[in-house]
Amino acid sequence: MQRSRLGQFALASVAVLATTMSTSMATPAIAATDSDIPSFSEFHSQTFKDVDQQYVVNGDEPVATTGDLKTFYDSMVGSPKKTTENGLVVNTVGGADDKWSASQALDLTYCVSTKFGSQYTNVVNAMAAGAGQWEAASSRVEFTHLSANDSNCSVRNNAVLFSVEPTNTTQYIARAFFPSTADRQRNVLVNAGSLMNSGSWTPSNIMAHELGHALGFRHEHTRPEAGTCFEDNNWRPLTAYDSASIMHYPQCNGSSDDLSMTATDRQGIVALYGA
Ligand SMILES: [Zn+2]
Repeated sequence: MQRSRLGQFALASVAVLATTMSTSMATPAIAATDSDIPSFSEFHSQTFKDVDQQYVVNGDEPVATTGDLKTFYDSMVGSPKKTTENGLVVNTVGGADDKWSASQALDLTYCVSTKFGSQYTNVVNAMAAGAGQWEAASSRVEFTHLSANDSNCSVRNNAVLFSVEPTNTTQYIARAFFPSTADRQRNVLVNAGSLMNSGSWTPSNIMAHELGHALGFRHEHTRPEAGTCFEDNNWRPLTAYDSASIMHYPQCNGSSDDLSMTATDRQGIVALYGA
């Protein structure tokens, strides 16, 4: 999730929320207001770079290289605004859905780094609970924790599809990846302290949001109905707009404050992967 976005505004302080918004809204503003479009140089210098050297855009979505960041920038600046669309939206790459194959969707393996230390069990439990929310909605997706890999849990471990690793950044609570993300960049980075202390956003819901990205889902608030927090147009709607979606930041004109999965979210994953 986006972080700060996710994390901090959940703590309920108006001041924190305002601070968070002014920082995190920088990216959406690009597409929202033509007069505010920064140069790529400005955009590049303002974009947060993660511990693994990936750029983070839209709050909690990684971009691997400067070249990829330029592609992202161009897609935003050049995107026409949508005026109509009919909760869940799937990421698209070159117009095609960004999703796992039917067989891979049933074999979404991961490790949880023992580097989480005293928070390791909390993260293991949050991952299982978050994954369980999607698994309960569709029998066609299955996440599996291969704990034998936890002591060697990184993007370089090819025994798992993705790794769950700690980060100390305060830029977000956690961030994930999309199915189209290159193998060496498929990780979920988690600030465990923030994960366990984000007010109404439970650890389960936060991880379910992140795993939503890992399944291919974009932020619901990029849809024009949200009226703010536009990201880009590289997505396809799976359901009617859902302001309470687990993929919709509450602070982006959302109608839920706890990041719970909705019935529409469950319809969305069925639409993409099957019941
Ligand atoms: Zn997110």
